[in-house]
Formats: sequence, C-alpha cells, structure tokens
Amino acid sequence: MGTLVRITIYSENAGPMRAAFRRIAELDETLSDYKPDSELNKLCRTVSNPVKVSEDLFRLLEASEKLSRLTDGAFDITIGPVTHLWRLGKTPDVETMTRVGWRNLVLDKRHRTAELKLAGMQLDLGAIAKGYAADEALKTLRRLGVQRALIALSGDIVAGDAPPGTKGWRVGLEPAGGEILLRNAAVSTSGDTEQFRDIGGVRYSHIIDPKTGLGLTSAIAVTVVARRGLEADPIATAVSVMGEERGRKVFERRVRKLIVVAPR
Ligand code: ADP
Ligand code: MG
Repeated sequence: MGTLVRITIYSENAGPMRAAFRRIAELDETLSDYKPDSELNKLCRTVSNPVKVSEDLFRLLEASEKLSRLTDGAFDITIGPVTHLWRLGKTPDVETMTRVGWRNLVLDKRHRTAELKLAGMQLDLGAIAKGYAADEALKTLRRLGVQRALIALSGDIVAGDAPPGTKGWRVGLEPAGGEILLRNAAVSTSGDTEQFRDIGGVRYSHIIDPKTGLGLTSAIAVTVVARRGLEADPIATAVSVMGEERGRKVFERRVRKLIVVAPR
C-alpha cells in the first residue's frame, strides 16, 4: 500500500502484532493495483465475465459502489486509468475517460461475483484499502486477545480499547490542529498536500475529480471520524472531491465528526 504501518499494542508478547502485520500484507497482495498478480489486477484483465472474488475484495467493491451512488460518482474506484496516468505526470485524453465510470462495474452479492463491462478498465482501491486494512488488523489483534491497540497506515488510523487508565488514544490532527481521544473508532485525513504531480506548472493532487479527470487543485483537507476505517478513509476522500457544502449534506449524519480545512 506504499506506506508505513505503525501498530501499538498492550500485550505480553509480540505474536499478535506479527499476525496483524501478516494480515495487512495479505490484503496488500490481494488489493494492490501496483502488483500485476494481485487478485484485483487479475479481475481487471477480464471483460464481460462475472468473476468470483474473495470476501475481502467483494466487501471493498460493495462499499465503493454504495459510496459512488451516494456521492453521485465523486467517489469512484474505476478511476484507475486516470490515476495510472497521473502517476506518470499525465492528464487523461477523451478515450481514457470512456473507460471510467462506476456503473461499468457490476456486482452480484448472491454469487459474490464482479464483472467489468468494458475492456481497459482499471480499479484503484487507494482511497479505501488502507482504512479497511487497519480495521482488519484490529480484528486480528482482538481475535488473539489484544483489545488495547492503535493501528496507523499513515493518515488512516483505527483504535481499539483505550490504553490503561485513559479515555482514549491521543491522536493529533493535521492540518486541522488539536487532538482527539480515539477509542473503538477510526479517523482518516485526506487531501494531504504531499501527494501531487506538477503537470504544466499546475499542482494536481492524487485525488481525482471523476467529472474532469483532473487531480484536485484546491488545498482542501478533510478529516473524518467514524466507526470503522472502511468508512472514514473513503468518506474523507469523497468529501475532498465534493467540497465542504455537498460533503456535509451527504455525510454529516453518517459520521461522528467531519472537519474540513478550507482552501487557502
Ligand atoms: P491517501 O492515500 O493520502 O490516504 P486517499 O485516501 O484520499 O489518500 O486516497 C487517494 C487515492 O485514492 C489516490 O491515490 C487514488 O489511488 C485513489 N483515488 C483518487 N481519486 C479518487 C476518487 N475520486 N474516488 C476514489 N478513489 C480515488
Ligand atoms: Mg481515503
């Protein structure tokens, strides 16, 4: 997932910690759009053919579809053809944009299959996989008896029970400022100004507006506190694309906290 993972636990031994890291590595193998042989990329090489997928992958595809519907396409994991160009410092042409669109990914819950309707589609779970991986790491720790834990995949953080004698894990908020006490909840921040490409003198963020195919040029930063990383991570990205007003309308009641640091 191209990031540093930090796990903090209260435990007598390091076994659970190793298991949690293994679980994250396993998800990286499955969900990566960088690794040619990930389950995700194998799916992307099929067309008009319902493919049976793992529970992990299906869960993320399903959550993503729900968010695409809710955000009217501001959140869209079929943005892959564009993000892959962005990584090369390029903006998409008209042909590339025809291969983007969440309605071209068709899911069947009963059979747990996914079908790509067009050739050359590319799925990119970069805005949702880290939050989910943090959730799953916590689940692994709990299964092994560790309740007090904090898992951080850069800006995507998930907390279990609080450290002994405290009300929560102290998590500093950047760039919003201040800190929160996190317990059995998740916090994610999107729209960081570190990940950008300079294309023709313009700074484009790695968060793409699917309507234009271009990276965001505003300096918006969104922090979301929710029950799970599977919610906080993608919602922070979605609100970055939608902007504060629309973002609040859709998500204010669905999350615990929504902080938007407006553009300069
Ligand atoms: P970070 O990786 O900094 O935590 P995000 O969680 O906001 O950032 O995810 C950004 C990543 O999500 C991009 O690098 C890209 O892989 C993917 N992405 C970009 N634009 C969108 C979008 N509109 N909808 C869904 N995923 C996106
Ligand atoms: Mg995100």
